[in-house]
Amino acid sequence: MKRRRFLISLAPALITPTWAARAWATTIPRALAVPGGIARISLGASEQAPRANLGGTPVLVVRDDGEWIALVGIALATKPGSKLRVEAQRPGGSNERFEISIAPKAYAEQHLKVPQGQVDLSTKNLARYERERTHMSDVLKTFSESPPATLAMLQPTPGERSSTFGLRRYFNGQARSPHTGMDIAAPAGTPVIAANEGRVIDTGDYFFSGQTVVLDHGQGLLSLYAHLSAIDTTVADTVAAGAVIGKVGATGRVTGPHLHFSVYLNAVPVDPALFLRD
Ligand SMILES: [Zn+2]
Repeated sequence: MKRRRFLISLAPALITPTWAARAWATTIPRALAVPGGIARISLGASEQAPRANLGGTPVLVVRDDGEWIALVGIALATKPGSKLRVEAQRPGGSNERFEISIAPKAYAEQHLKVPQGQVDLSTKNLARYERERTHMSDVLKTFSESPPATLAMLQPTPGERSSTFGLRRYFNGQARSPHTGMDIAAPAGTPVIAANEGRVIDTGDYFFSGQTVVLDHGQGLLSLYAHLSAIDTTVADTVAAGAVIGKVGATGRVTGPHLHFSVYLNAVPVDPALFLRD
């Protein structure tokens, strides 16, 4: 009898709306300290926002449920078992160090055998790719002070999401860069929308990613849309979440139409699925 009463008295505490709201607020993005994942660090409550950085690169700091939290993007190349050091500066001036232990995550491997001529780029294309890589690396370092309107993102085009983020690709036994985004299958011409409110910081037609748009959502949270058949926005435009920014296509180095969607935090790609509702 006693035991039953105890259980009943617990029940209301488990279903209070505040508890549900808290859980929701902390659900997106889903934090998991693995390569390609996101570490969540509690920085406590203070009037003004603290700042935080990872090896000198500023990281996203937002207020969540009355406290400040840092959300740190973990590069895919980070070794499991290693530790990342995040430094936080309090508004008062004191510094604090946090260590993030990186847990392992096994990403799938894909081995392809292709004629060597298709793997090696011509001198001209290699030079173009090097130029574009430098440009894109500068774009992806963008850090603007205003915080994102929200951390939850919209799926940018309807269609089946592949879970190939982090896929390790080998061409004829040679390792290539891992897959930095999520591919969404959709017919060419399907509208692509902004996953979150933001500012257009780059548009271009690149060797590998084809027609591409990059949005800045604030505090180093960026999103990238590639292989578009059309770009319907311009650099410096402000776009609302859900605004059409282009159309699905097959531009760049692809075998068929789909949307490649990437999300960046502190200049590293993280799994876009962590920002999407199921
Ligand atoms: Zn892709």
